[in-house]
Amino acid sequence: MDLKQIVCSVIDEMRDRLIEISDTIHRNPELGFREYKASKLLAGELEKHGFQVEMGVSNLPTAFKAVFKGKTEKPKIAFLAEYDALPKLGHACGHNIIGTAAIGAAIALSKVMSDLNGEIMVFGTPAEEGYVENAGGKVLMLDEIAKADAAIMLHPSDANYVGYSSLAREAFRIEFFGKAAHAAGAPHKGVNALEALILTFVSINALRQHLKKDAMIHGIIEKGGEAPNIVPDYASGRFYARAASIEYLMEVVEKIKKCAEGAALQTGASMKFTKTANTYANLIPNDTLIELVRENFKLLGVEMESLDEIRKRKGLGSSDFGNVSQVVPSVEVRVALVPSGTPGHSVEFAEAAGSEAGHRALILGAKVLALTALDLLLNPSLIEKAKMELKKRKEEIAKLAKI
Ligand SMILES: [Zn+2]
Repeated sequence: MDLKQIVCSVIDEMRDRLIEISDTIHRNPELGFREYKASKLLAGELEKHGFQVEMGVSNLPTAFKAVFKGKTEKPKIAFLAEYDALPKLGHACGHNIIGTAAIGAAIALSKVMSDLNGEIMVFGTPAEEGYVENAGGKVLMLDEIAKADAAIMLHPSDANYVGYSSLAREAFRIEFFGKAAHAAGAPHKGVNALEALILTFVSINALRQHLKKDAMIHGIIEKGGEAPNIVPDYASGRFYARAASIEYLMEVVEKIKKCAEGAALQTGASMKFTKTANTYANLIPNDTLIELVRENFKLLGVEMESLDEIRKRKGLGSSDFGNVSQVVPSVEVRVALVPSGTPGHSVEFAEAAGSEAGHRALILGAKVLALTALDLLLNPSLIEKAKMELKKRKEEIAKLAKI
């Protein structure tokens, strides 16, 4: 048997246990930074199979790092595990499958590492979903993850392809502090914080027509006053700004700050700008790794979308995996879980993630991950090629951002 067959048969042998782990996480959804059960379950399984496990990496109680050494220290191939859920919907993004596929692939490879140069790493990365304060476990763990020579992860989806783009994102809160006064009796003595926030929205809307097409800004009013007859002394809004590159995103955020500063000046209120999550960078795709993924899908009898089709999919979401892809050649394998067109973060997606379809996606995904890592361990020149490609793409993006 060749190594690829061995790795796949180990995954087949582990099938029931992997499904049990994935379904357990699915039945016990935990929100970002509170994934105590899931992180313990995944890290514990790796430990049972001889991995060196460190919990609480980067000062995050639900993060972990697990290492299995081969004959040498290099190359290091990292699998990234996510396991946070969404409020109310549970595992409507299928992170139970992501986390379990990562450990399944790593354990399968560990069984052949005595013959191979290099190391396998698994990073348990909490709080990918952006709703939670300080979200973005991968950003907080980036120093650790950057030690890897390549990073691979799975994401269930509505087709078999790879993630090719995601938008850089900044999440922030804008607050205004004014002065309360009777709205009829002494309006001239009040400083209206709500008007300052409304003017900020108006200025942002004026800004939109002068932004590049890929920029997006969405906002809500969080707090806008207590009663109509009191001049609001406090107002706050939450915003996301997104753009195709992190370089341009930073420019857009500066312009938004100017909108808020202008509104403060106009009304006499004072303004406070606070980031509410870590900055998510755009995903940099890596064709070298994508072609390996394609070959491995094929080996498993599955056709992956063509590169042209993949490029046409405009990834309009944002993920902290983008930050990883900026420093390490990265690939996000997408396996079909739901029928084409089914949205993520939906009830249908959550149900599928704990069903037969979820089990199939998990086993197929774990195999594609393991086989792709195996290719890299066997052919370190591919890693060099992937690193050169990343360097070149970053240079191109920086040049484009200046236009
Ligand atoms: Zn997700």
